[in-house]
Amino acid sequence: MSRSSKRFGARYGAKIRKNVDEAESHEGECPECEGELEREAAGIWKCTECGLKVAGGAYNQDTGADETLRRALNVETEELEAAKEQIEEDE
Ligand SMILES: [Zn+2]
Repeated sequence: MSRSSKRFGARYGAKIRKNVDEAESHEGECPECEGELEREAAGIWKCTECGLKVAGGAYNQDTGADETLRRALNVETEELEAAKEQIEEDE
């Protein structure tokens, strides 16, 4: 591995870890005010700050979190492909 591709790989690794952290944090955080969510019922979360109800869980179509995650994963896949091509060009 050349020096430049090594540096490139580390940079992408950090970005992906950040995205995963953000995706995971959505489950316990109000999308409106970032307040704490408490579980009200199965799959329903309520914000302790503003009272917003959020449907949670990967199987619920209304969460938006699923779509957000999917979109994030798509972006990551494209970026990974670009990164791989870049690394291959380097070597
Ligand atoms: Zn809130």
